[in-house]
Amino acid sequence: MKILVINAGSSSLKYQLIDTENNKMLAKGLCERVGSKDSYIKHGADKDERIFAQYMADHEEALAVVFDALCHSERSTIHSINEIDAIGHRIVHGGNYFDSSVLITPDVIKKIESLCTLAPLHNPPALKCINVCQSMAPDMPQVAVFDTSFFQSLPPSAYMYPLPYELCEKHQIRKYGAHGTSHRYIAQRCAALMEQPIEDLKIITCHLGNGCSISAVDHGIAVDTSMGFTPLDGLMMGTRCGAIDPAIIPFLEEAEDLTPPQINELMNKKSGLLGVSGISNDMRDVRKGAEEGNERAVLAYEMYAHSIRKYLGQYLVEMAGCDAIVLTAGVGENCDRMRRIVFAGLQPLGIILDQEKNRRDYHGKERFISRDDSPVKIIVIPTNEEFMIAQDTLSIVSDLKK
Ligand code: ADP
Repeated sequence: MKILVINAGSSSLKYQLIDTENNKMLAKGLCERVGSKDSYIKHGADKDERIFAQYMADHEEALAVVFDALCHSERSTIHSINEIDAIGHRIVHGGNYFDSSVLITPDVIKKIESLCTLAPLHNPPALKCINVCQSMAPDMPQVAVFDTSFFQSLPPSAYMYPLPYELCEKHQIRKYGAHGTSHRYIAQRCAALMEQPIEDLKIITCHLGNGCSISAVDHGIAVDTSMGFTPLDGLMMGTRCGAIDPAIIPFLEEAEDLTPPQINELMNKKSGLLGVSGISNDMRDVRKGAEEGNERAVLAYEMYAHSIRKYLGQYLVEMAGCDAIVLTAGVGENCDRMRRIVFAGLQPLGIILDQEKNRRDYHGKERFISRDDSPVKIIVIPTNEEFMIAQDTLSIVSDLKK
């Protein structure tokens, strides 16, 4: 089956065409700065990548550009939209409605619409893309894959906040989590690499990119995750502060005369690695700064590691140990020094990093980096959310045909 995966951000649109017969990626690309006059499309993979300046006023125009690139570019693998069998959409927020991926129906659209207040930057462009795809190919099945659904299995003790219960109910305040598709993918790959059923394993999954989150997956079921009501909670990230004393917020609002949107921007865009180091939100720059002796870069680096270690400790206790710790995304996959600091001295807990394997660069390959005699395995697994979305779409569409 040829499945088009669409991931709409607030001003971007990523896409991948995947052939599920052999799990081969046929084409991929990215529209950036949608809505601005310097918008462009990057179409193709790796060395074949081409960039075209192209004005795209909104996601509707971006999709038209994407379909054109898919069907008419030099190396296009299809010649008409009709050669696509189904479309899988990444949807950031599924609220409490969706604990798994679903076929898109008018009722599903209504529910995604009703969640726009919880994901104002992401659910509206995704809805737009669904509508446009429906009007371009009315008979093509479309599937919604939610970032939050993997965490609907959390027990209330983990997802509730100790605020007045009525307020939480009234405003749907709870821990929803995010990055769920990535955590689900790396947990499944971890079980496959360990050659054991996921139902027999306790896994801690760490997604460490620009956004960072950690989850506890107990016998295949997510029981806790570090992101919360929004993706701001939990770990220190590139520009987000993660968990802080909530009293700092009204204090700063008053002391600095900040409005709620301003404090929100400060916590989401000016904090984390960027805020502490004063250099960058990019781990490579912070690492370089630390190596050159910049004290704030050293501090940012150490705080980032400390924040990860805190959650590892929490989830080790919540699950009473674990069989594997999986790392993914830019920092998790590539930053051997950060991994060294995170796992330093954890031998008494049965977590033993193999320094040599940790240092070696395997260029985006799945690999064990724990010592062979380490009771807890440490595994690097490049994430592949698009693959997971294509798989869910395939399974839902195949069921339709039964
Ligand atoms: P996003 O959440 O935007 O998808 P990525 O998964 O691409 O993020 O991760 C981006 C982060 O990964 C950046 O902080 C970047 O510096 C870091 N990163 C990428 N490669 C390396 C590397 N070789 N060493 C250290 N950090 C890296």
